[in-house]
Amino acid sequence: MSTTAYPAVTSTGQPVLILKEGSSEAKGRDAQRNNLAAAMLIAEIVKSSLGPRGMDKMLVDTLGDVTITNDGATILKEIDVQHPAAKMMVEISKATDGEVGDGTTSTVVFAGALLDKAQLLLDKEVHPTIVVDGYRKAASQAMKILDEIAIKVKVGDPEWLLKIAKTTMATKMVSKDSEFLGKLVVEALLLVADKHEDGSYSVDIDNIKVEKKPGGSILDTTLIRGIVVDKEVVHAGMPKRIEKAKIALINSPLEIEKTEFDAKINITAPTQMKSFLDEESGMLKAMVDKIREAGATVVVCQKGIDDISQSYLAKAGILAVRRVKMSDMEKLARATGGRVVTTIEDLTASDLGKADLVEERKVEEDKWVFIEGCKNPKAVTILVRGGGQRIVDEAERSLHDAIMTTKDVLEKPFVVVGGGAPEAEISFRLREWASTLPGREQLAVQKFADALEVIPLTLAENAGMDILDTQVKLAAAHGEGKIYSGVDAAKSKVGDMYEREVFEPLAVKVQVIKSAVEAASMLLRIDDVIASSKPRGGPKGPAGAGGMGGGMGGMGGMED
Ligand code: ADP
Ligand code: MG
Repeated sequence: MSTTAYPAVTSTGQPVLILKEGSSEAKGRDAQRNNLAAAMLIAEIVKSSLGPRGMDKMLVDTLGDVTITNDGATILKEIDVQHPAAKMMVEISKATDGEVGDGTTSTVVFAGALLDKAQLLLDKEVHPTIVVDGYRKAASQAMKILDEIAIKVKVGDPEWLLKIAKTTMATKMVSKDSEFLGKLVVEALLLVADKHEDGSYSVDIDNIKVEKKPGGSILDTTLIRGIVVDKEVVHAGMPKRIEKAKIALINSPLEIEKTEFDAKINITAPTQMKSFLDEESGMLKAMVDKIREAGATVVVCQKGIDDISQSYLAKAGILAVRRVKMSDMEKLARATGGRVVTTIEDLTASDLGKADLVEERKVEEDKWVFIEGCKNPKAVTILVRGGGQRIVDEAERSLHDAIMTTKDVLEKPFVVVGGGAPEAEISFRLREWASTLPGREQLAVQKFADALEVIPLTLAENAGMDILDTQVKLAAAHGEGKIYSGVDAAKSKVGDMYEREVFEPLAVKVQVIKSAVEAASMLLRIDDVIASSKPRGGPKGPAGAGGMGGGMGGMGGMED
């Protein structure tokens, strides 16, 4: 087990204290085993949620808030992991999520399998460096195989994009509505995508805003060609609907700024009081006049709008909303073609954004302002509905994944089939390739192939299929050159995933392999874990008596 920070000894027998008092250290085999066990445990947790037949997890945080999800990244985000190696697994799932938006569970499951298989080699005294080198070689060969089996699709083809969105959502709680939601995602994506001269696309997914509101059903989810601001019109006397709107986007308050320090004003006569108030209201009126003169019929303000300004705006027939999020201001600027101004004195007609309709609408118990028919429809909102907070939360996460995967394919039009077929094919070809390699490296490549097979086998397990039987059938099919043969989770049998129309972005598969190998290599190369001591609370006298605190538990299991 781990030892405390024993002083090293120089050649002359002089002891040297290297680590801070109270630090604990785990070395060699212990450190490695400890790390691998923690990381594999994380993989074990998410394993049962992989694929369309995967189970959901109910996560309860310290405040008692409940999240129900099937999304690997979300599960790991919500659980509070202590062990540093386990934390690394959480990190890679986040990395995959950020890069390609899907494949988070697969990454963790695959990384866990890589470690599990590596353990077998380490037990046979194969050095970790050889395992890592073998894994790296196998990974780059896997990329080549992926390129060979990838299918090129027509750029920007909505049919293909829909297939991708559907596969992504097929593994989520919203799977039965994946066709409906998938169409919204594809429509939104194509609206905000930029098409370049060479025919390629790029997408800034920040242009797709996802708002959610519990109530109704998933099928009430709508795509709004514009921006929905979750704020109401500030004053009852203002219009609630403006057509052909000219919108002033202002990020300074429409009120008299309060001074930082306490200013005292001595008022000695009632007339002075009145003139003081008149002056204040005069300044506010001047601001509103400026807005009116610029031709604005709608004001969207990032800061506050006080009562006096509100009534002036109302009198001028201007619709106004306040305290709008910075991110929404930016989206509005892009969508309406307006400019966000700080000083109202500078506001001119050319700064105003345009929209066909600005209207306050009731969304359940709230009133939100919808800004539609924008000058440039490069910003859209998907308004998610569903019977309950947890349902809209999970739907939002699923939409995020689908937006990302369709973006992946729109930008890089290559797909692979799903259901673990590519993993089975790569695994098959790697085993053949391994035989051309020398000695121990060959073993590592074979283990890599075994680890990759865990993906189709886990899909099978979660679909209630017999694992051994599946393994044999997959191997036979791929041996016969049926490269699309995978686990058809819906029918719980091995089948042709191309015919089942289960497709995924090539980019996701590439990222899964990259992230998993990276994490596994990093963990395998660690043979020394040094944890510094936690600061001790209270005056306990000389801590740890000469730095030999003795009998420390495992890593992180130190005194509290
Ligand atoms: P991840 O977080 O890795 O995306 P998922 O739970 O979303 O995890 O599962 C993804 C896996 O499910 C992929 O391997 C994908 O090919 C597979 N999959 C999706 N739909 C189907 C299906 N209809 N039949 C079999 N496998 C499927
Ligand atoms: Mg997924």
